[in-house]
Amino acid sequence: MAQWFALKARHPDALLFFRMGDFYELFFADAEAAAAALDISLTARGRHRGEPIAMCGVPVHAAQAYLARLIRRGFRVAVAEQTEPARKPGPGVPKGPLSRDIVRLVTAGTLTEDELLEPGRPSLLLALAEGPARRGATRFAAPIGAAWIDVSTGLFETVSLAGPGALAELLGRLDPAEILSPEGMALGDFESRRGPSQIPPPAPAAARARLAEPFGAASLDAFGTFSDEEAMAGLVVLDYVRDSQAGQLPRLSRPSSQGNGEAGEAGRLGLDPATRASLELLRSRDGSTEHSLFACVSHTVTAPGSRMLASWIAGPITDLGRIVARQDAWSFLAGEQPCSALLRLALRGAPDIARALGRLSVGRGQPRDLGALRDGLFAAREAASVLDQPVHSLATLPVLLSRARICLDAAQALEQRLDQALAADLPARLDDGGAIAAGFDGELDAERALRDDSRRVIAALQMQYAQRFGVASLKIRHHAQLGYVIEVPVSAAAQMKTHGSVVLRQGTASSARFSTDELADLDRRIGEAAERTARRERLVFASLVAEALAQPDLPAIAEALALLDVAQSCATLAATGRWCRPTLSDDAAFCLTAARHPVVEAALTRPGRASAENRFTPNACDLSPDRRMMLLTGPNMAGKSTFLRQTALAVILAQAGLPLPADAARIGLVDRLFSRVGASDDLARGRSTFMVEMIETAAILNLAGPRSLVVVDEIGRGTSTLDGLAIAWAVLESLHGAQRCRTIFATHFHELGELAETLPGLSPHTMSVREWKGQVVFRHEVVKGVAGRSWGVHVARLAGVPEPVVRRAGRLLASLEKTRAASKPPLPLFAAAGSAVPGRDAEPDTETSTFDPSEIAALRIAMDAIEPDQLTPREALDALYRLKSIF
Ligand code: ADP
Repeated sequence: MAQWFALKARHPDALLFFRMGDFYELFFADAEAAAAALDISLTARGRHRGEPIAMCGVPVHAAQAYLARLIRRGFRVAVAEQTEPARKPGPGVPKGPLSRDIVRLVTAGTLTEDELLEPGRPSLLLALAEGPARRGATRFAAPIGAAWIDVSTGLFETVSLAGPGALAELLGRLDPAEILSPEGMALGDFESRRGPSQIPPPAPAAARARLAEPFGAASLDAFGTFSDEEAMAGLVVLDYVRDSQAGQLPRLSRPSSQGNGEAGEAGRLGLDPATRASLELLRSRDGSTEHSLFACVSHTVTAPGSRMLASWIAGPITDLGRIVARQDAWSFLAGEQPCSALLRLALRGAPDIARALGRLSVGRGQPRDLGALRDGLFAAREAASVLDQPVHSLATLPVLLSRARICLDAAQALEQRLDQALAADLPARLDDGGAIAAGFDGELDAERALRDDSRRVIAALQMQYAQRFGVASLKIRHHAQLGYVIEVPVSAAAQMKTHGSVVLRQGTASSARFSTDELADLDRRIGEAAERTARRERLVFASLVAEALAQPDLPAIAEALALLDVAQSCATLAATGRWCRPTLSDDAAFCLTAARHPVVEAALTRPGRASAENRFTPNACDLSPDRRMMLLTGPNMAGKSTFLRQTALAVILAQAGLPLPADAARIGLVDRLFSRVGASDDLARGRSTFMVEMIETAAILNLAGPRSLVVVDEIGRGTSTLDGLAIAWAVLESLHGAQRCRTIFATHFHELGELAETLPGLSPHTMSVREWKGQVVFRHEVVKGVAGRSWGVHVARLAGVPEPVVRRAGRLLASLEKTRAASKPPLPLFAAAGSAVPGRDAEPDTETSTFDPSEIAALRIAMDAIEPDQLTPREALDALYRLKSIF
């Protein structure tokens, strides 16, 4: 228990997996927490201060699965192993517990095992540090340093952020598994990923020096320009990783700074959390991956390819050169279809070199990880020869492909070596034996021969002894306690004893057992041979691992394979003829021809659902500078949100360097994308819909500029009609005149259409709808003009609202429309644009103007319902009360 307490004290907030033979056992509160989380039985073992000690345990061979469940539930686990081999009790053998030590801290952000990781997504540990406040161009704020490591692949990057807004964007992009942040720094939706509270961050100068050390450099400057806060965050994340691997650092790439951005991240398309949530890039709102943009776009065949594609989609860029380079890579393959198909074949099933390397570098590698390197290098060579077919010289390849091509065969010597060294069928664990091929290592072969040939050796010795001692029935047998012995019938015992070289070990009624020095020696050698075989195999394995880790090109090869996978995935999309290569430019152009929403389209045309009726209707979208603002009206269910989202997704795909679901596209680089479409989930946080809407609107008005794209749905719906109209109006005017961004503004306020007369960049569009035999037919087509009516009552019928209610609503609507036509203030009343916001407060001195048209309409309907001649006095009184209640 003393040993347990000492180890537990080192990681008090982690569960301690305490190795005891074939089990990891947990004690005290750890046991209670783990038993509850894993649904395993809680028992007791021994007593502490008179109380029974709670205990539970998991078998070592099944530990991964239990670990995975604990980590998913937010626990951290310290694993304490026995650090000396189990002893057999006997004279001279020391008593007392075996020595144990913590070999690893398992946390959500420091995993390396395939069983615990999602293959197609990065697994990031992120550290944040607050830097010294400095006077920025626009405001005075403390910058935030961020540094992240993917322990499973060795990625190490940093960035400096201007403030909390940029942090929220970074968290959305990286989706880290675990976050180390100063106490009090808000993490928004990522609060649940917060790791343990940490020691105060180091001083900048010390951080710079210590961060450079493991990479063999005297100063961080060798790797680029890092701000103080980046260096501080970098050291925090590095120390945490080192601590989690019991002092050993995994193989990491050198830290690389992504620079420092004013509002968001430098070089990246700005995507705030609300935008990201509305676009369902990597996951849909329910958390599944199935109906995400990623799922529609990906034709990758390897996990590393899928990780690279996911990171492109999650973090589109604004550097024209880099985008075009990506496009060039897949366009080339799209034009060389046989090459693309062969490449896919070569890559299919190619193992995850980066993650295998990650495990090998922290000493957790198994034979199959070396096997992964061997097979990965083979795939790389195959891919190289595929790429060589269509080209005559590397110069004809697009730059990303030629860069990849050069890496691909950089480690052929290692591949050959592993090919010779590794057995064809690799055991899951090194301890199972048989990882190294026969004929690779002479010493290992000799040990194995001794171990495996023992039967033959014994048989030969038995024959030799039978002759030497003149006992034909002599046998050599193995006994649990005695080891190998000569066994003869009692009748031959006397004859055996005449030979001085034999010693009687045991006599029974029927037989006698003898040993010889030679036999004892053989017995010991056979036993030791098994142990030596294992030891030798471990040694050979370790030297191969060292060779692999010393090969500097492996990470580049892994990356090259991932890139080729993404490129062939895009080429596969492009080959359908329905995805185009967008033309990007450094201006404010924006014109999509026949664009589609990939996810909605895929859902409509799913096998079984495909029919002429379910075909997706493509739509053009032209936001060229002279008509940069589109006002979109149309009933619910007509396809407004789909159109808004597909336009936003087009920007994501284009700036990720990927193909677009459209016939053609021209897009001037977008610096920030704002998408406000669909329901907000913020109600759970106690904010009203209207408040959320206004906060999000404020963010747009504060951050959008002439290079931004804004798609918004129904601003102003969460308040009274006039309030809402007034706010929508003012926002529209501001986006048009002040932010001057490209905008699609969907609204139910048809009145706003009239603004086209005063705002030259505004072009009103509507979703075309047909009425057919009293039913509404949605054509999902965006056409010029303003919606004539709302069709809400028809949609209610479609949705299954009971017929009497629908009919009553229809009559009320007709009546309301009549009233409104009579009382509606002519729009120019409000058209003193830009000045005061119209509304209830605008004219405090005129009583009557505070009546809402809908109130007047309600009054009229109530009056219409009264037939004075038919009323009893009592009913008349009730009617009077009803009228009064309207105001
Ligand atoms: P709104 O936002 O106007 O209420 P949605 O965009 O949510 O409408 O679309 C409603 C449904 O109409 C979608 O779920 C989809 O099935 C279908 N739809 C939308 N746009 C199209 C389109 N362009 N072609 C075919 N079907 C579409």
